[in-house]
Amino acid sequence: MEDKLDAIVVGAGPAGVSAARELATAGLATVVLERGAFPGSKNVWGGILYRTPTEALLPGFEAEAPLERPIIEQRYILLTDDAMLGATYRTQRFAEPPYNAYSVLRSPWDRWHATTAEAAGAEIYSEITVTDLLWRDGAVVGVTTGEPDGELFADVVVLADGANSLLAQRAGLHKEWEPIEQALVAKELIALPAEKIEDRFGLPTGLGTALEIFGESTSGLLGYGFIYTNNESLAIGTGALLEDLIRTGINVNDMLDRFKRHPAIAPLIAGAETVEYSAHLIPEGGYNRLPRLYADGVVLVGDAAGFVNPLNREGVNLAMLSGKLAAQAIVEANARGNFSAATLSRYRELLDESTIMHDLYKIRNVTDFAHQRPHLLRDYPRLLSEAAREYLTVDGTPKKLKQRKIASLVRGIPKRQLLSDAVGAVRSMI
Ligand SMILES: Cc1cc2nc3c(=O)[nH]c(=O)nc-3n(C[C@H](O)[C@H](O)[C@H](O)COP(=O)(O)OP(=O)(O)OC[C@H]3O[C@@H](n4cnc5c(N)ncnc54)[C@H](O)[C@@H]3O)c2cc1C
Repeated sequence: MEDKLDAIVVGAGPAGVSAARELATAGLATVVLERGAFPGSKNVWGGILYRTPTEALLPGFEAEAPLERPIIEQRYILLTDDAMLGATYRTQRFAEPPYNAYSVLRSPWDRWHATTAEAAGAEIYSEITVTDLLWRDGAVVGVTTGEPDGELFADVVVLADGANSLLAQRAGLHKEWEPIEQALVAKELIALPAEKIEDRFGLPTGLGTALEIFGESTSGLLGYGFIYTNNESLAIGTGALLEDLIRTGINVNDMLDRFKRHPAIAPLIAGAETVEYSAHLIPEGGYNRLPRLYADGVVLVGDAAGFVNPLNREGVNLAMLSGKLAAQAIVEANARGNFSAATLSRYRELLDESTIMHDLYKIRNVTDFAHQRPHLLRDYPRLLSEAAREYLTVDGTPKKLKQRKIASLVRGIPKRQLLSDAVGAVRSMI
């Protein structure tokens, strides 16, 4: 206890590094413990990084950080087993600085991000797995690796150990994570030359696109597939709520294979070589299932706290912001020399004033709404595809008859269900 630090951060992902940078900048002796060989070595994401929230936390990052392509376009696609239809939004505003978003490779990004905390004075130690917390008089006072010399003490411990945080359970902040609170995603990084990427996706040199694909991409389960363009690779993945995967017995690796073989997807990735494969959880419990976020001597940040907005595919920026807000609360607690839950509740106040809680609250019912309606991603893509096929097939059938056929397709879905889906969708978003 004599060698006590001001703060220990568990995990050198975006949340932990952001917290450590803020703490060290405020002059607090801060150590980050990371179980991977280096920050980013074990981490997974799609990944799209939004510029504005990142700039607010890391001014001037574009000049230094390893970035791939500015994202100029968003495509939303519905897949059935033999068709695809969708909507694309591309704007010249996203194609010129200041950009809206970048594709980013996680490992180089995390490595670079870690240097920002080190530059501020935080010490980062890799290949150290924290196995448990140390307690005194009901308060967390440190961490242990389970080794004889593996105990480290601090005024406060920041748990930034990612989705399915075991340490949050140890801290009593969360009961065991439920399968409805986590999505499981399989993702591959597949190499493809830049010119092929630009040809296949219709992109200007050096610029990128993001595709989010619903329906058959997840075998109709709640979730989505994605393809994001990097400089010389594509990130391709798909996943669904763990509860639905367990219930249906669908394996997420098979789901990804099927998705890659789909006739609308296969030509986009033809000849691309898999260079990285991973499967990872994403916390999707949302606002209604957030864990307790602090206790005596401990706070929870990033994925460990469940801060993900799946609708806008925001995780990293929420993780970084939550790390910063936790650090602010800790700096205030440090000034008072009091790290009790009551003092650390300031973290919750800061969160409540931030976009994190505002946005998570706004979409708090979306997952439950969609989860209670498994037909949404199964029946509607099929209906829209059949209607489009009918409309676009020129075969001598009088147009009036075609209209009637399309109307009868829509009538095939009970009015009450249509109304309830539409009202439910609107309600869950407002
Ligand atoms: C497939 C996929 C695609 C995604 N796409 C996007 C996207 O496009 N945009 C976006 O913003 N977000 C995306 N996300 C979400 C985003 O990756 C997360 O929200 C973000 O990484 C959370 O950061 P974090 O620091 O909280 O956790 P993590 O990034 O998971 O970092 C946790 C760190 O803690 C370490 N650790 C864990 N346990 C221990 C331990 N016991 N001891 C020591 N170290 C430990 C881990 O090794 C890791 O480095 C995606 C996620 C996935 C899985």
